[in-house]
Amino acid sequence: MKKLIVILLLLGYFQTQAQVSKLEKKIISSIDGNKQESLKLLEEVVNINSGSMNFDGVYKVGQIFKTRLDALGFKTQWVDGKPFGRAGHLIGYHTGNGTGKTLLLIGHLDTVFEPSSPFQKYTLMNDSTATGPGISDMKGGDVIMLYAMEALKQNSLLKDMNIIVVMTGDEELSGRPLELARKDLIEAAKVADIAMGFEDGKSDPKTAVVSRRGSTSWQLNVTGIPAHSSQIFTDAIGAGAIYEAARILTEFYEKLSAEKDLTFNPGVILGGTDVKREEKLNGGNAFGKGNIVAKETIVTGDIRAVSPEQLKKAENLMQEIVANHLPRTNATLAFDEGYPPLAPTNGNYQLLEYYNKVSQDLGLGKVGAVNPRDAGAADISFTAGYVDMAIDALGLPGGYGHTDKEFANLNWLSRQTKRAAILMYRLTQSSVNNKR
Ligand SMILES: [Zn+2]
Repeated sequence: MKKLIVILLLLGYFQTQAQVSKLEKKIISSIDGNKQESLKLLEEVVNINSGSMNFDGVYKVGQIFKTRLDALGFKTQWVDGKPFGRAGHLIGYHTGNGTGKTLLLIGHLDTVFEPSSPFQKYTLMNDSTATGPGISDMKGGDVIMLYAMEALKQNSLLKDMNIIVVMTGDEELSGRPLELARKDLIEAAKVADIAMGFEDGKSDPKTAVVSRRGSTSWQLNVTGIPAHSSQIFTDAIGAGAIYEAARILTEFYEKLSAEKDLTFNPGVILGGTDVKREEKLNGGNAFGKGNIVAKETIVTGDIRAVSPEQLKKAENLMQEIVANHLPRTNATLAFDEGYPPLAPTNGNYQLLEYYNKVSQDLGLGKVGAVNPRDAGAADISFTAGYVDMAIDALGLPGGYGHTDKEFANLNWLSRQTKRAAILMYRLTQSSVNNKR
């Protein structure tokens, strides 16, 4: 019986292995051979502070990847971030000899940890775990992207591939106007057929991201007529600014909270006779008295939608609600520029299916989609509508992102590199449906 189980296990093993071609095996062994080198690069870049507002640090990390991309045969360029108030981006174009699809690989150089943070260094906790600022979000993913291409180059496969790399310097705190800060990414998406993001996603290697909700902030400004409280509800004074704000928020809740995959959250409310909002402090001051009808109310919040259509629909309904004023009040609702949603298209699901197949062929298990409610806004969303397929979370799994306990599972560094490299190889083998 035992023997039979062993034979069955072996049979299963060979069946899985047989799915990987001879050439793909060579890619895999190159990645195994580069393991120590890739770990070294990860440690090196994690140890350079690149908080979004530390422009020198972001540039320095960018230059390390620029040198590496140059060596892979990319035409690289550092896009200065001055016009949008950030460090800038690293962009690289690789024009291959082949006619395969053009891949857009997306990374980011910055982290949420500024030089003032106590969390600055890469620390090995045990043979498979390391902590460090940005180790999984997302310097690990950047290293995976690079070493996937390194292995393809070592096997003379990269030369045929059309690849664009965009590594932004301001993913964690994007520059403004967004139109300028994401111009290069959008230009790249227009040329590319398939977008691949190397964020850590849900930090679970059994999942990848095919849909991300967008995130847009909004501000509601409400005014009323200040008067002695005894006059509230009269024709001359009306309802006051606080009642009007409360009506609006209640109607938002009543009419929109049941909509699937849509959320909108009022985060701060200030109301009274004299209101001062301090944007930089994410707060402000409000002064008022119980016997005075409120003159002003300000509410700030965000809205997250799964598709541009859902966002538009929600925005329109919110504006309608706002316009329906209580007596003698006024209100306006303004939406900021936001991160767009990455809608769950058939193309994205198809790409996930390819990735799932690659993973199973590699013996690394099935990969399913992350619930969009668990996937925050990210740079890949800017490719929505321009590419045929997009997938994210091909990066390094770990946990506690954006905290000083951020860690990565180092065992997955070469596994994720293998998944990415084989996926890139297979995607570029067919020449149908490319934009070039
Ligand atoms: Zn990130």
